[in-house]
Amino acid sequence: MAFESLTERLQQAMSKLRKKGKVTEADVKEMMREIRLALLEADVNLQVVKEFTKNVRERAVGAEVLDSLSPAQQIVKIVNEELTTTLGSETVGIEKSPKIPTIIMMVGLQGAGKTTFAGKLANRLKKTENARPLMIAGDVYRPAAIDQLKVLGQQLDVPVFDMGTTVSPVEIVRQGLAVAAEKKNDYVLIDTAGRLHVDEALMEELKQIKELAQPNEILLVVDAMTGQDAVTVADSFNQQLGITGVVITKLDGDTRGGAALSIRSVTGAPIKFTGTGEKLTDLEIFHPDRMASRILGMGDMLTLIEKAQQDYDEKKAEELAKKMKENSFDFNDFIEQLDQVMSMGPLEDLMKMIPGMSQVPGMDNFKVDPKDIARKKAIVFSMTPEERENPDLLNPSRRRRIAAGSGNNVVEVNRMIKQFKEARTMMQKMSNGNFNVPGMDQMF
Ligand code: GDP
Repeated sequence: MAFESLTERLQQAMSKLRKKGKVTEADVKEMMREIRLALLEADVNLQVVKEFTKNVRERAVGAEVLDSLSPAQQIVKIVNEELTTTLGSETVGIEKSPKIPTIIMMVGLQGAGKTTFAGKLANRLKKTENARPLMIAGDVYRPAAIDQLKVLGQQLDVPVFDMGTTVSPVEIVRQGLAVAAEKKNDYVLIDTAGRLHVDEALMEELKQIKELAQPNEILLVVDAMTGQDAVTVADSFNQQLGITGVVITKLDGDTRGGAALSIRSVTGAPIKFTGTGEKLTDLEIFHPDRMASRILGMGDMLTLIEKAQQDYDEKKAEELAKKMKENSFDFNDFIEQLDQVMSMGPLEDLMKMIPGMSQVPGMDNFKVDPKDIARKKAIVFSMTPEERENPDLLNPSRRRRIAAGSGNNVVEVNRMIKQFKEARTMMQKMSNGNFNVPGMDQMF
């Protein structure tokens, strides 16, 4: 997950203040020195680091902060606010055209994730607005890009307009727009060609497409893993083309985070979305305040709740709540839940969105072992349907049979059943309003 070491360093810098009753100007200076180093190490643009540290220092050494009852808390609040400002303050959505279609052009270097993003956006627009987008395949230099877009279109049931690779992109866009007008599509997503580097021919072509299509949005797609390069690229696309927003992809990777933290300040263009994986649903709206809080290790409950809502079926959730209350949660529900949660993304990333979780000792090393999950599933799949529905049937001889069937030993089977029963009791208590349950920290 992105930002990991930055989060750790920032927390270290701030936790020193927390231990002090009285905070002096020298303490703030020392903390700022560490924050500055942490940001530079995360590959944040130098100018952005300077501006950020200056703003925090000015606010933090004010008498009303240092003389307050909780200076450390106040300073954390200031750091959080300034980080939010650096990331852009406001959440900025897609600029819609007053009359259809809203035209969105994706630009960026090859491999940044433009085509994937076009698919993710089409999916999102369909789901959230019931929209009828048309995608135009304008990347004629990478033949695979057209096929890739067509496959995405098929998966999503979204039409893709293409004319192969022999016609100029400007002509393709002209004809694609005519089709969209005829079919009354409400969005047109134009996938354009990328290059390995910014070059003049590319910019010229993009300018011509812009001139012709008069897009409502020119979204620059950049790869978070490329760090400062992403910022340089963003700067030149912006100067030549005037971008309206940025999409940062691959934030699920092990990036230090510098690009995400610098791009808004350097280009002035808002970050609108982030890509967090290769799947079509791995797209998040960018909220500067939530991202700041996540970077500071303060969790992001809102995004977690939204993820859950996006992936959960309300009726099923109600049934489940009832089962938990009545203590009738069985192994079939267990498998279903396991699959649901796993589809939301790596569990260790989800856990970190819970406020305070990143400070829990051992959380850094918390890793869900896929083998362990597979083992638990194998145990359940070796049970008979009756046993899955009624775990109380599981007597020693049945347990031995399950162990043999799933390739585990009985100790492991016993442990898994014990954990299951404990979790079930805990869920029953919690769903009846009792959150003061011993062992809750063990539940994960
Ligand atoms: P394009 O050349 O800009 O159109 O880039 P593509 O859309 O073909 O993406 C390049 C590669 O990056 C593909 O393998 C995608 O699956 C992958 N990719 C795109 N977005 C993300 C993301 O948010 N996370 C991860 N992990 N991979 C991504």
